[in-house]
Amino acid sequence: MDHISVAIDGPAGAGKSTIAKKCASKLNYIYVDTGAMYRAITYKALQLKIDINDDSKYYFIDNTPIQLTTDDKVWIDGEDVTKQIRERDVTNSVSIVSSKQSVREKIVPMQRAMAYNSDIIMDGRDIGTNVLKDATVKIYLTASVEERAKRRYNELIIKNPNVSINYDEIKAEIIKRDHLDTTRKLNPLVKAHDAIEVDTSLLTIDEVVDTIIGIILGKVNSNGTNI
Ligand code: C5P
Repeated sequence: MDHISVAIDGPAGAGKSTIAKKCASKLNYIYVDTGAMYRAITYKALQLKIDINDDSKYYFIDNTPIQLTTDDKVWIDGEDVTKQIRERDVTNSVSIVSSKQSVREKIVPMQRAMAYNSDIIMDGRDIGTNVLKDATVKIYLTASVEERAKRRYNELIIKNPNVSINYDEIKAEIIKRDHLDTTRKLNPLVKAHDAIEVDTSLLTIDEVVDTIIGIILGKVNSNGTNI
């Protein structure tokens, strides 16, 4: 595979999707939001009202097409679920769903196939350690839990101006998701040994984008790869 692949992993709210999207658009790479795929499965599991803790209940995935389109939309069974997969019920269940073997067995090969034919930036939890172990560049994007909770809180009050939202609850939800994502048995969130860590707590979005593009171009140029 002589395409360029950039893996961006990190905990919830570190800014991965915002940053990855902007970097991909500047470099003309394809952006893949792997969390959106787990969210789409979670959305369907909640609709079907299956017991999400039971690994044997996910056979529906075999007959469930998931699509990520270049206009940043997410589709499941031909339904546009871009908005629904960001709702709190999905967010608070997705770490249970994504920990199941039957789910990861289906989703990870789809993600690898997406990276096969294009220059790509993929963000998630296990991209550098599992999905694209040979990625050209690996970034571990992080930020303090307070900063991540503050960003989520601000996002939610803008989206839901009439709903009362409690910062401490949001922070507790992020801590719980971090715990589930870092302690699960299968492909937990962990910094790859060859990943470069970027702490976004005190940086603006543009500063993070510039830093990451600098890292990518530095690596690509030192490999002698044409872009
Ligand atoms: O990135 P986002 O917050 O949308 O991811 C939602 C959830 O999907 C994560 O909390 C994690 O449980 C799961 N996930 C995963 N592996 C990935 C990407 C996301 O397990 N590569």
